[in-house]
Amino acid sequence: MKFGGTSVATLPRWQNILELATSRRAEGARVVVVVSALSGITDALKQMCGEGDKGKRIEAARAIEQRHYELLGHMELELPPALDARLKDLLALAEDGPAKLGELAWQAQVQAHGELLSSTLGAAFLSRSGLATQWLDARDCLAAVALPNQNERTKLLSAMVDARPEPALNARLAAKGEVFITQGFIARESEGRTVLLGRGGSDTSASYFGALLKAARVEIWTDVAGMFTANPRQVPGARLLQKLDYEEAQEIASTGAKVLHPRCLSPLREPRVPLLVKDTNRPELEGTVIGPQVREHAPSVKAISARKGITLVSMESVGMWQQVGFLADVFAQFKQHGLSVDLIGSAETNVTVSLDPTENLLDSDAVAALAADLAKVCRVKVIAPCAAITLVGRGMRSMLHTLSTVLAEFGQLRVHLISQSSNNLNLTFVVDENVVDELLPHLHELLIAAGALRTDDSALFGPSWQSLYGSGEVAISSAWWREPGQRKRLLGIAAEATPRYVYHLPTVRSQAQSLKQLGAVDRLHYAVKANTHPAILSALAEEGFAFECVSPGELDAVSATVPTEVPLLFTPNFASRSDFERGLATRATITLDALYPVEHWGELFRGREVSLRVDLGRGLGHHEKVRTGGSGSKFGLPVDQLDSFLRHADAHGITVRGLHAHLGSGILDPKHWGEVYGQLASLAERIGSIAFLNIGGGLGVPSHPGEARLDLAALDTVLRQVKAAYPHYQLWMEPGRYLVADAGVLLARVTQTKGKGGWRYLGVDTGMNSLIRPALYDAWHEIANLSRLGEEADGLFQVVGPICESGDVLGSDRRLPEPAEGDVVLIAQAGAYGKVMSSPYNLRGDTEEVVLDD
Ligand code: ADP
Ligand code: ASP
Ligand code: MG
Repeated sequence: MKFGGTSVATLPRWQNILELATSRRAEGARVVVVVSALSGITDALKQMCGEGDKGKRIEAARAIEQRHYELLGHMELELPPALDARLKDLLALAEDGPAKLGELAWQAQVQAHGELLSSTLGAAFLSRSGLATQWLDARDCLAAVALPNQNERTKLLSAMVDARPEPALNARLAAKGEVFITQGFIARESEGRTVLLGRGGSDTSASYFGALLKAARVEIWTDVAGMFTANPRQVPGARLLQKLDYEEAQEIASTGAKVLHPRCLSPLREPRVPLLVKDTNRPELEGTVIGPQVREHAPSVKAISARKGITLVSMESVGMWQQVGFLADVFAQFKQHGLSVDLIGSAETNVTVSLDPTENLLDSDAVAALAADLAKVCRVKVIAPCAAITLVGRGMRSMLHTLSTVLAEFGQLRVHLISQSSNNLNLTFVVDENVVDELLPHLHELLIAAGALRTDDSALFGPSWQSLYGSGEVAISSAWWREPGQRKRLLGIAAEATPRYVYHLPTVRSQAQSLKQLGAVDRLHYAVKANTHPAILSALAEEGFAFECVSPGELDAVSATVPTEVPLLFTPNFASRSDFERGLATRATITLDALYPVEHWGELFRGREVSLRVDLGRGLGHHEKVRTGGSGSKFGLPVDQLDSFLRHADAHGITVRGLHAHLGSGILDPKHWGEVYGQLASLAERIGSIAFLNIGGGLGVPSHPGEARLDLAALDTVLRQVKAAYPHYQLWMEPGRYLVADAGVLLARVTQTKGKGGWRYLGVDTGMNSLIRPALYDAWHEIANLSRLGEEADGLFQVVGPICESGDVLGSDRRLPEPAEGDVVLIAQAGAYGKVMSSPYNLRGDTEEVVLDD
């Protein structure tokens, strides 16, 4: 059991340690407690080492002494003679300075005192509290090995131990007692000198002991309940990783997750000792188990980590790549300067490498000396400070297609180097250090939204840090169909017939009401293409919505259902002349989005007021441009044809009253609508006749567990800001999916299962004929076995329909309970673009719709 700095810094934590060690004893285990120095003490000792002035060193030693006295006081312990002796040793080292031992050996000896003191103090506390505890000198057990190319610095301050199971040590300890306390961070080298294992190295000490003793397990007790998908202090939405294999955990640790020292996993692999990461203050939380087991998981990014303080060395030389021995010459310099290289990128005339501060004792002198020597063989450029952002997950290369939004984000930054590890476990981007803090939470969100980080796999991803430690303000939105009464009702509906769509009108209404809170918006239209069920049209009409239609058929459906005074929009795309004729025969405001209609059918619109849909093209930034803007999209009039459009309109007495743009769908960032609004407004200023601006829809509905909801208050703020500058225009919006997606579910029935190779298929009685979004857009819909809601979900299934298409997959790699024929399966968020996009393909018959009013 290893306890880190914060875990040993206060009396309440020591009480936890006592309790935890006692409970392990009660289970019959023998316990080795490995401790860090009290938090902050190693830093203080290191600072003391840098002090040239003896008086200041002594002052620092006294302050450290004081910290320990205070803790002793809280523990109500007399000063134990062993602790007194260690404090005196430290004082002597402060007085002597490095002269006697040599600079590096002295530094190691001084810094070792953090752990020597905390363990001595801990031994006294545990024994006094009734748990007989033997103090063990870690240096008698951990022998540092001499490594090739090691310099004096790494040998003394970043040593390694070759820890293999040693039955003799086990027997020796067994003869002495049951509970031991020892130091993390320190070992002894062959000449008998004290050495350090590198900053954060106490975790590694614990693993060395775990391997030497072939322990039942190693427990790392720290200030957080495990390894998370990102540093939780930086990304509060980071999710607990419940189970990891050694390789993935290793990768996460070595790419920046400080919670485990990068060297602490390799000693455990061969003896197959599992490692558990737990929170000392909240021992009831599950934590992370790391072991040899490779469980069946959905292919997923497991974590995003970042390392700061990275130095890039770019080496330029003409024709170098083909030149025999060039790389050998270059790397010889790194070897000579004792620097280990992390990432490598190469080109015809350039090799760029990164140096990681956790593996290198990097200071500006070391880098300058290296650069000076390298300059003899090539042109050298040092780029610092940089940061390496790494995505970790087994089989990274097979997940690239899920990363497009993340890659788009990097597209907007200066990326110095991209590296893809040859073990296929990571993908790393080196960027300027100052962008990292803001970028990381954003990237984490994008990974969840893109389904690259499969938060739906509940066997792997636990709760978010925020929900475990936060102020509890995270709204965990619970879908209506999970409520026991509704679930029972749905099972009844499915018992009558499947497949069936079921729509929950109160959800439609509450979504509508939430949008009505957008004070900046003057008129809301429901984009009826999402779902044209009359009950939904009526409910939204009652909520005061206007309606947006894209075809004569939709105009008919709406006209047949909603009261005649409700405003309509007709916004077709590539509509025929006759479509426009039909539209013009209704009360709808017509939107044009091309030159052709005014050029060729101008007479049709004579004397009319129309709205014009424009394509804002490049104005929306890279990510949106890819989706809707530019010549790749068939929608909208390109802005460069605006003048021509206005001339034609003028010639036919057509007044352009409105401007419209729609930037895409599933957008969760409020800023985007502000941008569209601002751009439309400035275009409107040029036109003069404009009365309203329609900024479209596309309001995102999160689908993955943990994905943040669209912040409507923030959206309103953004819109109000633009409105303040352009108060003379009405603001319109036309959301579709936002209003109805969550309200609808598709109910189907399990027909059979099939195993094939490593895969398990779960067949249901409908597929892409009812719901085409997964096949068409790779859309992700939550899938639940409604008959077995709440049962343990062990299996990983491909959920498929009966259509004769290999694309007939409703969901891949879904964690579900063991199913039986006839179970009712629910496909969530099917209220939008479900039934309306269904087809008679394979003549599977129509999927019925059922409406629930409460
Ligand atoms: P100890 O002193 O117990 O060794 P550390 O400070 O070394 O503790 O490590 C725990 C800290 O690691 C956490 O408080 C957290 O800030 C940081 N950390 C960085 N990345 C991660 C991650 N992916 N998961 C959990 N913790 C992380
Ligand atoms: N006390 C050492 C450090 O702060 C080792 C550790 O805590 O893991 O680096
Ligand atoms: Mg640590």
